[in-house]
Amino acid sequence: MRAEIISVGTELLLGEIQDTNSHFLASRLPAMGIDLYYITVVGDNLERLKEVIGRAYGRSDLVLITGGLGPTDDDVTREAIAAVLGEEPQVDGALAQQLRQFFASRGISFPERNLKQAWLIPSAVPIPNPWGTAPGWWVEKEGRIIVAMPGPPAEMTRMWEEEVAPRLRQRGRGEVLVSRTLKTLGLGEGHVDELLGELTRSRNPTVAVYARADGIHVRLAAKASGVEEAQSLIAPLEEEVRRRLGPYIWGVDDEALEAVVGRLLREKGLTLAVMESFTGGLLADTITNVPGSSAYFLAGYVAYQPEAKAALGVDMELIRRHGVVSEEVAVAMARAARERAGAHIGVGTTGVAGPDALEGKPPGTSHIAVDYLGQVRTTSYRLYQGRLATKRRGVTAALGLLWRALQEVS
Ligand code: ATP
Repeated sequence: MRAEIISVGTELLLGEIQDTNSHFLASRLPAMGIDLYYITVVGDNLERLKEVIGRAYGRSDLVLITGGLGPTDDDVTREAIAAVLGEEPQVDGALAQQLRQFFASRGISFPERNLKQAWLIPSAVPIPNPWGTAPGWWVEKEGRIIVAMPGPPAEMTRMWEEEVAPRLRQRGRGEVLVSRTLKTLGLGEGHVDELLGELTRSRNPTVAVYARADGIHVRLAAKASGVEEAQSLIAPLEEEVRRRLGPYIWGVDDEALEAVVGRLLREKGLTLAVMESFTGGLLADTITNVPGSSAYFLAGYVAYQPEAKAALGVDMELIRRHGVVSEEVAVAMARAARERAGAHIGVGTTGVAGPDALEGKPPGTSHIAVDYLGQVRTTSYRLYQGRLATKRRGVTAALGLLWRALQEVS
């Protein structure tokens, strides 16, 4: 099945918001055996939308549209579909009734202009949207399908998961593409590629190596007539990749480093505290984004000035001797965090977030330390791609170092 996606909204063309809807839908199609050929962004303009939908309808089996289903004159997706198919929209009595009830249940009077959201054309059936006022449209004509979904991502993703994807799966035809991503830390892209050797020439499944913020990812992807068959093609290859890269693999697919670290801390019954300088609390923020982190995360201290570090137990003399941005201070911060919070593990981060140099050290200079009951590991590097990127990289490096340290704790 050939598909294309159309995102509707002038805000998208003005760069005011990012087209996350297309990104979401594109990521869902391969495993359903649906081939995506085009993504188009178009503004809230009836003529241009008609042109784009007309072209899509002419060349694709499935056209997925998001946005433009609101009640205002700018929302013209229904008008455009109707015009392309040469059909006349009519208010559907049952939908109008539901809409009136939706407003009444919230104690709001019904604006007549919202009646537009109760429109249907003969080829369309409504797709329920309990999370908003705009029902979607499922349109079938001449063996082709057009699906119109609301623009707000929360409404669109739920409509997709609960209504649209199940209907499309029922028609399932064509080959599915299933992928498995193994995420590694501690090796460069070239080194991973070298260890994979001849595997990277495999055709089905394919093996691809990507450099990402949280390490090097190895993506295995198989095409087959069904999901299980594709998985059984991937399994032996995954085993072989694990045999070659095993100690460096920290997670798979959507797993996040902070969640994996959290799971390890829980399993091992260990607790954690951090003292941050250049990461400014972002490390504690990331760690506590994981549900249940209170089981292992005891405290996060943001000690920005040398005096604040000293007040929390870092030796001022050490700071004077080595500079605040130094491996020695990172180690002292990790120990101070651990001791002050009474945790098993302490992490310290000190660096130059930039854009200016500090103590003659260029922006991006970073030192991170992990102290596990007095056993210390450190990492130091320098890379500058902006202040926020430096902070984020510091967080990933700290979590990576922590993960590595946890590998060695039995
Ligand atoms: P509403 O009923 O809220 O008017 P709608 O179907 O008309 O919904 P739009 O008005 O096009 O949708 O978009 C509503 C909001 O949804 C936008 O302001 C934007 O915040 C978000 N949105 C729309 N399209 C996208 C997209 N492609 N990616 C991310 N967000 C989007």
